[in-house]
Amino acid sequence: MEFLQPEDWGEALEARAAHPGALPLWGGTDVMVDLNFGRERPEAILDLTRVRALEEWGPAHPDESEGALRIGAGVSYTRAIDELGSVLPGLGAASRTVGSPQIRNRGTIGGNLGSSSPAGDALPPLYASYAEIELASTRGTRRLPIGEFITGPKRNVLAPDELIAAFHVPAATGPQQFSKVGTRNAMVIAVCSVAVALDPRAKTIGTGIGSAAPTPVRAPRAEALAAELPWDDRGELPAALAERFGALIGAAASPIDDVRGTAAYRRHALAVLGRRALTWAWEEYR
Ligand SMILES: Cc1cc2nc3c(=O)[nH]c(=O)nc-3n(C[C@H](O)[C@H](O)[C@H](O)COP(=O)(O)OP(=O)(O)OC[C@H]3O[C@@H](n4cnc5c(N)ncnc54)[C@H](O)[C@@H]3O)c2cc1C
Repeated sequence: MEFLQPEDWGEALEARAAHPGALPLWGGTDVMVDLNFGRERPEAILDLTRVRALEEWGPAHPDESEGALRIGAGVSYTRAIDELGSVLPGLGAASRTVGSPQIRNRGTIGGNLGSSSPAGDALPPLYASYAEIELASTRGTRRLPIGEFITGPKRNVLAPDELIAAFHVPAATGPQQFSKVGTRNAMVIAVCSVAVALDPRAKTIGTGIGSAAPTPVRAPRAEALAAELPWDDRGELPAALAERFGALIGAAASPIDDVRGTAAYRRHALAVLGRRALTWAWEEYR
């Protein structure tokens, strides 16, 4: 098959427009598995690893004072842990649970978005932080909320001539947590996962649930409990409120029975993970 290796972003977009059947590749930790198992047989591979611009991250605008970040699609999990762990602790925590050191060195958050698996570990923290995805083509650039970008299991709205350039997310203003259940401690696809992001300035809770519906989802009814939290006096988290939060996280999912777990187990586990994640985040806030 043809192998395209653009040297910069402009060349990458031209190559994508000229070869809509080419499969983009960064770390290859999903793409190579699909090629090896014969699930993908693209007419060409579009290797993006020479496009240095995709590895950059920083303030979304030079004069940015509100902490909005733009993070290139080619940022690996290892870099997310080392460089973004303090500004996006939820994404950092999720990145630490991905695969092995080798997978974390090669694999990228852009690749996780590209694969759009409901079990992608980088995705729940991005839902919890209301991330937007920046898509680009030779026609121009557009930005979509992550919930509009991912439309189904391994499905998204990327057009044949588009590439994922970056994602936009606000730097954390409060504690963020990520909690995942797997069938073992490492190198494991999530049975289910929960991300929680507290924003003490806006007095809101963001949520993201992984591996328990056709796409990652948010739990709006759990998020609404933010109105009942004792933000101003940093009081104790009432146990009943933490329980209700967990139950609403479980209720927001639409899990299935599969080889990794039953729907009933996933719902139960989500309620426990949700309660714990909120409790940890609130203790940190206090
Ligand atoms: C052993 C092993 C363990 C794993 N463990 C985990 C885990 O614990 N959690 C987890 O979430 N995942 C895991 N994965 C899956 C994989 O590592 C992740 O999904 C990773 O984020 C993919 O990133 P990548 O850069 O390797 O993507 P690639 O494989 O290069 O690409 C993935 C998809 O995204 C598309 N793509 C990549 N970049 C772009 C772009 N800029 N624009 C448009 N499309 C693009 C590709 O065409 C492809 O469809 C594991 C994989 C392996 C092999």
